[in-house]
Parts: sequence; structure tokens; C-alpha cells
Amino acid sequence: MNKLDTLKKYFGYSAFREGQENLIDHILQGRDVLGIMPTGAGKSICYQIPALLLPGITLVISPLISLMKDQVQALNQAGIHAAYINSSLSESQISKALKLAAGGQYKIIYVAPERLETYEFMQFARQTEISMLTVDEAHCISQWGQDFRPSYLKIVQFIDRLERRPVISAFTATATENVKEDIVCVLGLNAPYVLVTGFDRKNLYFAVETPARKDNYIMDYIREHNAESGIIYCTTRKNVDKLYGRLLAEGVAVTRYHAGLDGGERRQNQEDFIYDKCPVMIATNAFGMGIDKSNVRYVIHYNMPQSLENYYQEAGRAGRDGERAECILLYSAQDVMINRFLLEHKEQKGEYGQEELETIAERDEERLQMIQYYCLTTDCLREYILRYFGEKGMAQCDNCGNCMREYEEMDVTEAAVKIITGVKEMRQRYGINVTAGMLAGENRAKLREYRVDEYASFGSLSDMRETEIKEIMHQMLIENLLAVTDDRYALLRTTDASEEVLEYGRRVILKRVKKAPQQERKQSRREKSSRTKARTSDILNARGLELFEQLRTLRTAIAREENMPPYIIFSDKTLVDMCVKVPLGKAEMLDVSGVGENKYARYGERFLSVIMEYTGGIREKFYFDE
Ligand code: ADP
Repeated sequence: MNKLDTLKKYFGYSAFREGQENLIDHILQGRDVLGIMPTGAGKSICYQIPALLLPGITLVISPLISLMKDQVQALNQAGIHAAYINSSLSESQISKALKLAAGGQYKIIYVAPERLETYEFMQFARQTEISMLTVDEAHCISQWGQDFRPSYLKIVQFIDRLERRPVISAFTATATENVKEDIVCVLGLNAPYVLVTGFDRKNLYFAVETPARKDNYIMDYIREHNAESGIIYCTTRKNVDKLYGRLLAEGVAVTRYHAGLDGGERRQNQEDFIYDKCPVMIATNAFGMGIDKSNVRYVIHYNMPQSLENYYQEAGRAGRDGERAECILLYSAQDVMINRFLLEHKEQKGEYGQEELETIAERDEERLQMIQYYCLTTDCLREYILRYFGEKGMAQCDNCGNCMREYEEMDVTEAAVKIITGVKEMRQRYGINVTAGMLAGENRAKLREYRVDEYASFGSLSDMRETEIKEIMHQMLIENLLAVTDDRYALLRTTDASEEVLEYGRRVILKRVKKAPQQERKQSRREKSSRTKARTSDILNARGLELFEQLRTLRTAIAREENMPPYIIFSDKTLVDMCVKVPLGKAEMLDVSGVGENKYARYGERFLSVIMEYTGGIREKFYFDE
């Protein structure tokens, strides 16, 4: 069977997505590959299809148990023999699984990196034909990444001990250059084919909000998005518990996840979320790697995270099904301080010398600054993210909070000149707070202690409030008209571009959100959502939606019967495609996106009979034209 037939037969899709075919072809030719693709792009199929076409077994190294279970369930549903081996199984279960595997029962085996070292597993691996070794979440091997896992280093030793080196495929969503180099180098990839697809997630709407009361904002949001599934990330466990208590008291079907809960409760809560029993999850960043739930409609960050890498990964858990979803970051200046504190006290995984520790601290600080600028910029947020990951974005995406907002522009060149003059005068000895205080002519104890009143610039911007001066400084930092030192002190300094303002008359323009009355704001929000890309189900007319609901009810019933998350049976997209194509027989049903042969055999007729009953066997049009 060729790769396209395999895609159709097992997964029910009739075309590959960007990058998939290239990666598959190279693997089949025996070449190592590294695929760097954003969440939801479809990385799994890039190794699952070769796994089916190659002669022996494929081992997939994956860091999280929850991910394995999900993936294996989905594969079994598609009619592919797969299993997982990790610490959630007992020793005798593991022995049994390995025996079945050695007997050729499985094509794909998911395994935790720690397992590779064990005698039993090594014995098995040496006796079995392993065609490919896939490293999922490959950034975990990089010490520069945020998710470094020392156990990933064991993969290399494992490969070395095999009789025959299998082809190696590695996948990640982390695109930074250091991490990429680390993966290739540490994993020992052999002249790999490296594919980086675009990082843009078009179906995600990005926004940064600064509400006075974050709790109230979240409550309103959940009310407005009733019945939708979402994740709310908080920086600390304490915040998770507090917000959880509040939402519970308001009657929201909410659950929570953080490292302070015991294993049993964490598992239960995660399952309640995945099975849509509690569609709202409040969690620290301990939650999520490997969560494959495809219908997450929003991810709200209650606090600013520590880096854009973290942010994009966490926010990216929204809208994996390709339907529209929202990623909202609630920013407050305090978040920066909390994160700085947490970074300074973080436990280092691995052993580092003093110099390395300093480099790590500098990078952490740099990353923190870059996400702070993300929160402060008035330019297109998508463009900012893409640029950060080394891609050229569009100047305006028309699908982010900033592009949808109305701004008024103010020429602040005069103030900028005074700021640069002041920074020069202070000779890179102070950060934003002291400098802004000095320029405003404030009389705080700390400023007195530094004797800032002795500078000629003292009080040169006394007609402005300190917050306004800081706002201009932030804008200047974003435009590189000022910079801060790379250490944790973040001392202000001037740049080459500062001279353009002082000497060559470069203008500095500050964009401020135009304040609209409450009513108007609500209105524009509604307009906004109708202007931007709608949900897939929005293409259905009233009759179509009714059919969609009936199909959903059937899906829920099957999910209960089989104790399976609903989206593993069929995605919303597949149900919508059924409403559009109105299949009345087997061949037509197999033509629906996401219906493979195995799933047809299991569920096809039940869905067909709902459609038959609803339509009386007469095809009508259940959707609007464009
Ligand atoms: P990733 O691992 O890159 O985050 P997944 O492998 O989980 O993404 O895929 C995301 C979703 O896209 C899944 O629901 C998957 O079935 C779907 N998908 C993958 N490839 C295709 C394709 N060629 N056509 C349609 N849907 C696809």
C-alpha cells in the first residue's frame, strides 16, 4: 500500500498537509529527519504512516504518560496495532506487552525514555527488528530548552547499543535555533532532512488584556463562552486554588491541576477535563504537555508566563482541531516580578558550572523581557510572535487584539529626547524605575539614597506622571531606541538608534488604545467575531445545526459506552463534514474527512442511520454558501 492509501484507509484523510509528505518520503528512503512544526500541524501522522509502511516496529519515545495513552487509543481506533510501555503498567503487564511485541503484535510502541535503560527492554530491542526510532517532543533533549529532561540523554546510549541503527525521526514544536542545533547534535542525527513549517496558527486569535480585576474578567469570559472547553493557566499553585474556589462557588464545571495535588487527583481531574465532564481547567504549567484534547476553544493566561516559548506552547493547546480559538494573556506588571523571583529560585536540572549558570540566568532574563514586550507592544501580536521565532510575519493579521483595536497616535519625540539624555547622564547605572522617578522629579527614599536630584535631568519631565514616562520608555525599548543590559538587573542603556532621535530628528510615536465607552466596546467585540474566521459549524444552516447536534449526541453516547474521549471517536470537523456531504451509504461516508475504514466498520452505520432518519434518505443542503 502506498502512503496516500494508508492516509485514507487508517486516518480517513485524502490529502497531506504542508510538510507531511516530505518528511514521510525522506524517512521511507532511510534518512533521519527532524520535523519542526507547530502544535496541531499534524506531526504524528509523519511518523505513524512510515511506521505502517516500514517492515519492523517503530519505537516512539515520548515524555508523558498521558500522551501515550491518548495516542495509542487513537491509533487503536484507527485500526493500527499499537501499545505503550511506561510506569503506569505493572511489571507483569510490561512483560506481557513486550512478549506480544516480540511476536509481531504491534507496529508502534510508545515508550518512556527511562524504560530504555532497563535490562528487559534492551533484551527485547536487541531481538526485534526496529525499523525506526521516533523522538517526540524532541526539544526535551536540549538543555537550552525549557523542558529539558535528563532521561532524554539516554536515547543516544540506547541507539548505540542496538545491533542495527534504525532510521531516526525527531519532532518538536520548539523552533529556536539553539534547540534545533542541540537536537541534531545531541541525538546524533545523521545528515538529517530538517523541515520547519510555518509557525503561524491561523485559527488562533491572540490578545493581551490588562483588566483591573482578573477574576471578574475570567468570570465574564466564561459566562460569554458557556459550554465551551478552555484552559486557564496561573503561575502559582496558590492562584490556581484561589481561582478554582471562586469559579466553583459560581457554579462553573471546573477542575484543576498542579504539582501540589496527589497523583490520583491529578489523573482524575485531567480525565474529567479530557472527557468534557469539566470543560474548564485551571492549572499551572505542570498541566498540558501531551494533552491532545482537540476542542479547547480558549487558553487564558491569568499571569504572564516566563517566555514566549512557554506562552506559544501553552496557548497553542487551543484549537488543535483547526477551528477558531482564542488565546488571551492577562498582563499586570506584577507578573514580571513574580516570574523574576521564580527564575532566580528555580531548581536547575542537570549539573552546571558557575559560568553556565550565569549564561542560563541571562537567557532567562532575556526571554522574560521579550514576553514583557509582547504584552506591551501595540503592533500586531501574531507578527511579534512569528518574528520572535525567526519568521517573517505580516504587518497586520487582522486577527489579534492589537489589529482589532483602535489606537490614537501621539508624537512623544520631545519626551524621548529627555529620556535618552537622562539615561546617558546616569551612565547605565539604573533600571527603568529609578530613571523614570528621576525624570519625573520624584522624592522617594530610594531616589534620595541614590542622590538622583544631582543630575541635570532631574525633574525634566515633571509635567508627566511616572507611569506615562514608563509607557514611553517601553515603546522605546520595543523600537530599540533604548535597551537594557542582559543581566538580571536590566539596567537602561542607549543604543545606536538613540542617536537617530537625538541627532537626526527621528520621531517617536506612541500608540495608545482609544478609550471607548463600555457599550461600544462590547459592540465592537461582537462585530469583530463576525468579521474574523468563524467556527466550522457556523457554515451550517438551522437544519444543518440540528443534524450536527444529533450526531454529537450519538458521539457522546458512544464515548460513554467505550469510555473514550469524544474527539477520539470523531472530531467536530468530521461531524460537520458529514452534515455538508450528507452521506447516505458506505462509499459516501468513507469520503468524509476523518472517516477511515476501521472507524467506518465500528461506527459508520450508526452515524449513517441518524443521517438517514433525519433526512428520510433525501439529500438537502445543510450549509450556507460562502
Ligand atoms: P501535532 O502533534 O503536530 O500537534 P497532531 O498530530 O495531533 O498534531 O494532529 C492534529 C490534528 O490534525 C489531528 O486531529 C489530526 O488527525 C489532524 N490531521 C493530521 N494530518 C491531517 C491531514 N493530512 N488532513 C486532515 N487532518 C489531519
